[in-house]
Amino acid sequence: MQFSGGIGSFSAALHVADTYGTDDLVLLIADTRVEDPDLWRFATQAAAHIGVPLTVVADGRTPFEVFADQRFLGNSRLAPCSIHLKQRPCRRWLRENTDPADTVLYVGIDWSERHRTGAIEVGWRPWPVAFPMCDPPLMSKEDMLAECRALGIAPPRLYGLGFSHNNCGGVCVRGGQRHWLTLLRVLPDRFAQAERQEQQLRDQLGDVAILRERRGGVSRPLTLRELRRRHEEGARS
Ligand code: SF4
Repeated sequence: MQFSGGIGSFSAALHVADTYGTDDLVLLIADTRVEDPDLWRFATQAAAHIGVPLTVVADGRTPFEVFADQRFLGNSRLAPCSIHLKQRPCRRWLRENTDPADTVLYVGIDWSERHRTGAIEVGWRPWPVAFPMCDPPLMSKEDMLAECRALGIAPPRLYGLGFSHNNCGGVCVRGGQRHWLTLLRVLPDRFAQAERQEQQLRDQLGDVAILRERRGGVSRPLTLRELRRRHEEGARS
């Protein structure tokens, strides 16, 4: 089970444990070194409830360290952090510990993200992948959060703060403007750190940014500094 610490992967793990038992179940989680501390509280409680310890793998770097090494700033179209910090460490563990002939990789994306399943299956070959939360009974994110609460486990706090995913401490380069404005509003220190790190990469790489905007038919980088400046101006006017 690829256990991300998100609510979907928890519901999927519950489903797999209920259906197949836990004797051969592994909860494989990649540490990006920037997870919200509450992710580890949640993941530890979830693992204890399921009765399977977490298997933690890590590259050792943070997303921005990967960007610096790759000389490329991740964004919604291409995120090397996901490849280096999640896919490769998990794949290495699978290679060293499993046989694709008798292993199924469960991924907790739900039916609202069904369009992603094909690419995920291709990406994990030769391991077969299953998506329990894409099968009936279809559960919404609210259903999953309610299921979690009913078991006496507080859901990851980032959902309550307005984030749609519980990963990388809410600092995800795949997020759009709304995501970053949520970060600015509820976790301004993390926004400020990301703004500084983006600027450091701009000093090395030129006019790059995590976000882009389209103005007058032209797409151009939109820095976190500029996004914050506009937000602050809007709040003053
Ligand atoms: S959650 Fe976002 S920032 Fe973190 S590794 Fe994945 S794509 Fe990169």
